[in-house]
Amino acid sequence: MTSVISQPSKRKVAVPATRLLINNRWIASETGKTFAAINPSTGEEICQVSEADATDVEKAVKAARTAFELGPWPKTRASERGRLLHRLADLIEDNADDLASLESLDNGMPFSIAKAINVAATVACYRYFAGWADKVQGKTIPIDGDYFCYTRQEPVGVVGQILPWNFPLMLQAWKLAPALATGNTIVMKPAEQTPLSALRMGELILEAGFPEGVVNLLPGFGPIAGAAIARHMDVDKVAFTGSTEVGRLIMEAAAKSNLKRVALELGSKNPNIVFADADLDEAVDGAHFGLFFNQGQACTAGFRVFVERKIYDQFVEKSGARARIRTVGDPFDPGTEQGPQKDQAQLDKVMGYIESGQSEGAKLVCGGKRVGNRGYFIQPTVFSDVQDDMKIAKEEIFGPVMSIIPFKDIDEVIERANQTTYGLLACLDP
Ligand code: ADP
Repeated sequence: MTSVISQPSKRKVAVPATRLLINNRWIASETGKTFAAINPSTGEEICQVSEADATDVEKAVKAARTAFELGPWPKTRASERGRLLHRLADLIEDNADDLASLESLDNGMPFSIAKAINVAATVACYRYFAGWADKVQGKTIPIDGDYFCYTRQEPVGVVGQILPWNFPLMLQAWKLAPALATGNTIVMKPAEQTPLSALRMGELILEAGFPEGVVNLLPGFGPIAGAAIARHMDVDKVAFTGSTEVGRLIMEAAAKSNLKRVALELGSKNPNIVFADADLDEAVDGAHFGLFFNQGQACTAGFRVFVERKIYDQFVEKSGARARIRTVGDPFDPGTEQGPQKDQAQLDKVMGYIESGQSEGAKLVCGGKRVGNRGYFIQPTVFSDVQDDMKIAKEEIFGPVMSIIPFKDIDEVIERANQTTYGLLACLDP
């Protein structure tokens, strides 16, 4: 596979395979169509990537079905599946710089975070599930009469996996590792916004020695390749992380096709609750990291920061001061805490929420503007005096915008924190 060399800033990054991986071969899409991978730090094209459509999905599902039924995968011992996953984790460790660079180039996350958190968590995930591969047990169930009753855990079959763009490597691992450990075969569509690290992983999957057809990678667009996976009659399960709207479409497609199993991880609007007896500086730092980490593009981000009235003004002042010194810029600069948002659409969406916060009467403590006019950078933004019924308190912003909301007592804040259509996590301090 030819490697193109791109130079986003000072660093050279090797761009991986840019085609579809089907049956352990890199092939162009049937239509020959490609799409651009965009560097969010500049808005410029990094390279062209093959675009899968329903015909390519058909091919990939056939390859995955054959691999699942005929092997050698079904005959591969569980301990060998674990060994392959460990081998893959070793290869990720050997190529950590390379993979972290691709994440920064394609997604915009700071290199230091991509390496220390994202790549490290990816390795840990593959190793964790490698350990599970030969420890999946059924149960024996005592019943009356002369019977022997037991359960046996078996692989589901061909699993469709549809990924988001915010933590490309790690979320790929969260889907691939458990499915491979338990003996399934995979047809995966990375997000169209961030295909590159997934494709580099495809190269490492081949190097690790996974048999033909076990992992198939189809870069492409949601309504075309993603929808074709979701409605496919021979896909046994679809695992999806992304927006609630698309989650509904996936469930509908599963219901209207073969009633395949569905696993969804959708949006969030997590509450982060700070009481007056918390260590103030620690709470400010925790809330800052909890929201601004990964440019606010995390489903676990503490988007709504509820602060007890007694310490509210101090908390707002300190949070503003911390956000003002947050360093925004080139993800490859070691001093950078915050890179660009992923793309123009995200930039526009976040700027729209900032405008809405101001027009609905929230107080802009700091930030609120785009940084420069190249790439998709946004100032770390803090709003105070946010009311529960404002759009910025209700809808998922998925950007570097903190909403600080006052509360009086514990009963009130628990009720208000729970007033959301999302559920994912909540944090309390202390
Ligand atoms: P976001 O708004 O964060 O980009 P989406 O839910 O739009 O989240 O996208 C998450 C993933 O779902 C991406 O891989 C995208 O291509 C895919 N996707 C989008 N629309 C569809 C669809 N109609 N069917 C299947 N997958 C889709």
